[in-house]
This record gives sequence, structure tokens and C-alpha cells, in this order.
Amino acid sequence: MVQIVYLNGAFLPLEDARVPVLDRGFIFGDGVYEVIPVYSRHPFRLAEHLQRLQHSMEGIRLANPHSDAEWHELVRELVARNAGEDQYLYLHITRGVARRDHAFPPADTPPTVFMMSSPLTPAAQALREHGVSAITAPDNRWLRCDIKAISLLPNVLLRQLAVEAGAAETVMLREGFLSEGAASNIFVVKDGVLFAPPKDHLMLPGITYDVVLELAAAHGIPARVAPVAESTLRSADEIWLTSSTREVQAITRLDGNPVGTGEPGPLFRKMDQFYQDYKATVMRQPTI
Ligand code: PMP
Repeated sequence: MVQIVYLNGAFLPLEDARVPVLDRGFIFGDGVYEVIPVYSRHPFRLAEHLQRLQHSMEGIRLANPHSDAEWHELVRELVARNAGEDQYLYLHITRGVARRDHAFPPADTPPTVFMMSSPLTPAAQALREHGVSAITAPDNRWLRCDIKAISLLPNVLLRQLAVEAGAAETVMLREGFLSEGAASNIFVVKDGVLFAPPKDHLMLPGITYDVVLELAAAHGIPARVAPVAESTLRSADEIWLTSSTREVQAITRLDGNPVGTGEPGPLFRKMDQFYQDYKATVMRQPTI
């Protein structure tokens, strides 16, 4: 089945979707995006993703072209038009097509709206059993990491460092404190307590991050949201990464050293199960 995407009012095969070269996304990376997992054709935490999209759009001073009801309808149709029970949706909005000039284009310039669905595959069993490796690197991004901006060059360079080191993620440190992964949030477990950096301008407010903290509260796992020092990260019993497409994964090697025992820890095993159970309840709700 062909992959169907949405571009500026029309659903069409991916191969036929075209954007003019003067699109400000192409020229300046001037836009924002969202990634929404879909399980058994049920979008996961859609309201929260649309809220974060609104926050990102306000952050770059671009008017949201659609109401929540319109986004719901576009999401529903995109999911229906694509194969696969589990998908992940990519929503991308740029400041539109205009003569190349750094300042904003005329206010009536229509934004470019692009949406794509891709197959979502569960993590390999080996990964669940043994976790993944990560490296650390200085966080050299800007100071509005709470905006889900499409200008991801630093994140791309940071992730490439991980790939070249044979690792799955780069964990970033800024001025002696943990910020986040190149494309994930990071949690640390020390002496039975879950530590998470606060949602401020230095990290993306992850939807999975919120779910993990909610599940920790619901199941009595002590959690502390506070700046996490590099020393805490390096002496952690467990380190987890979270993202919409990777869910919760155990980082079992950091910069080549084992984290804790070097195997996914007991709190990870619990949280992974809580997360899978939570997903299952969402899937039983009516589809939008
Ligand atoms: N931080 C960054 C930089 C990300 O790109 C992502 C998403 N891939 C996350 C955190 C995790 O956010 P979410 O749980 O909403 O996918």
C-alpha cells in the first residue's frame, strides 16, 4: 500500500508531495513539528501533543492554522488512509513560502502544513533484555529547547556522534547538569529514587516524560523533579531514555562504562510493564 501524506489541504502519495524551494522550512528551518504514536489506530495522548504543538507555534510566533477539531479530523483521516495498526505521525508546519528574507514574511503568507504516517515497530526483544549504550556530549544547542523546532542541526550532529561510537543515543550535559538526549528525555535512578530534570527552556517537555512521572506517582515510585548533576548521572543505578517512538528504554552503558549492573534494572522492568499496561488501556478507548 502506498504511503499517503497530507500537504496543504490534500492527501496524496508521498512520492507526489512537493514543497517549493523557497519554503522557509527549507531555507531557514523556520518551523515546528510533532511526532505522535498511534497504537491499534488510536493516537496516543493526542490532546497533549496538540497542546505542545500550540506551545511551539506560540514560541516561534506562528499562528496555528487549525483548530484542535480540525487537527483531530486530519489525524483521523491520515491514520485511516495508511496501512498498519501501529503508526507514528509526523506533523510539520513552516512559516510558508516567501522571498528569502530573515524577517517574517507578510502576515497573509499561508503556512506550509505537512503530515506523514510511518510504520511504528516495537523495540527488539534484545534491546528490552539488555538495554542500549549511550555517550555523553556537551549540550551546544540554543536556549529554547522547549520549542519543538524543525531546525535540528545540533541534534543531528549529536546523534551522529552516538552512531559513530556504536551507541543508541547521546546524553547532553550543560554546565554540569543533565539536559536530555539528542531525541529523548533522560531519567536517572539512584537508591530507589527516580530523578528527572525539570521541564524548562533547556529541554523538550516530553509527552512520554509526563507519562513516566504519572505512572511513577500512580505506583508509588518516589520521584524527584530537580536539576540532575553530572555526578548523579555518572553514579546512577539506572538510566532510562524516553520518547514517543522508543517508549522507555534502559541505558545500560554510558561512555563505555556499565550503568549499575550493566543490565536493565528492577525499576526499569517495572516501569516498562506499567507503560505497556497503560498503552493497552488507551487502545481500548473509542477511536477519534
Ligand atoms: N527531547 C528531544 C530533543 C526530542 O526530540 C524528543 C522526541 N523525540 C524528546 C525529548 C521526547 O519527547 P516525546 O516523549 O514527546 O517523544
